[in-house]
Amino acid sequence: MPPSGSPEGTDVSSGPKGRRLTVLSGPSGVGKSTVVAELRRSHPEVWLSVSVTTRAPRPGETHGVEYFFVSDAEFDRLVAGGELLEWAEFAGNRYGTPRAAVERKLAEGVPTLLEIDLQGARQVRDSMPEALLVFLAPPSWEELESRLRGRGTEPEHVIARRLAAGRVELAAEKEFDLTLVNTAVKEVCGRLTELLTHDPPLH
Ligand code: ADP
Ligand code: 5GP
Repeated sequence: MPPSGSPEGTDVSSGPKGRRLTVLSGPSGVGKSTVVAELRRSHPEVWLSVSVTTRAPRPGETHGVEYFFVSDAEFDRLVAGGELLEWAEFAGNRYGTPRAAVERKLAEGVPTLLEIDLQGARQVRDSMPEALLVFLAPPSWEELESRLRGRGTEPEHVIARRLAAGRVELAAEKEFDLTLVNTAVKEVCGRLTELLTHDPPLH
């Protein structure tokens, strides 16, 4: 079972400098990785957590940049050791957030963003009630479907699985603190950075 809370009951959602964790979530294909890649390029002041995953790298992905690509056995070891802040199974692979790096960045007061799935966002909401949960929404369902297919990185049966998960994820929008519609990537990045870096918090 994925973790449901911080093990020692510690609240690490904000560091001594008042920095709280921000989470970006949304259906597969909405543009989360694109937004994160643009943030990495244009907003180096934001620290992006690098997740571990058992999924195989896509062309162009680098170990330690988009993800740490690990074996099933290594993922089991991280879970057993309590080293993941949250983790979830998504479309047949496991994904998790390494706890230590996030705790260190928050303690240093660095604007910190997690890009994770809905199950992970719920775990963070439970263990870190102060975290800001941002939902990335597509301009329309048709646009979501066309982005997922247009990416061309998954076979049809995986796309179907991700679209099914997407329908469930879209219905969860109301659980989030706010929604950003991914019409223009640069606009989303600007708004996210504002939310992450503004002192005092905007939301
Ligand atoms: P996710 O990480 O949410 O699964 P991706 O970032 O891989 O989604 O984006 C899915 C596809 O949609 C990619 O082909 C990407 O280039 C495209 N895309 C992302 N954002 C936009 C946007 N604002 N407008 C048009 N296409 C986009
Ligand atoms: P992808 O395989 O397209 O890179 O990611 C699939 C899904 O896994 C996306 O919804 C992404 O947000 C989510 N994801 C990536 N890293 C993590 C993580 O550390 N934890 C959780 N719960 N989900 C993650």
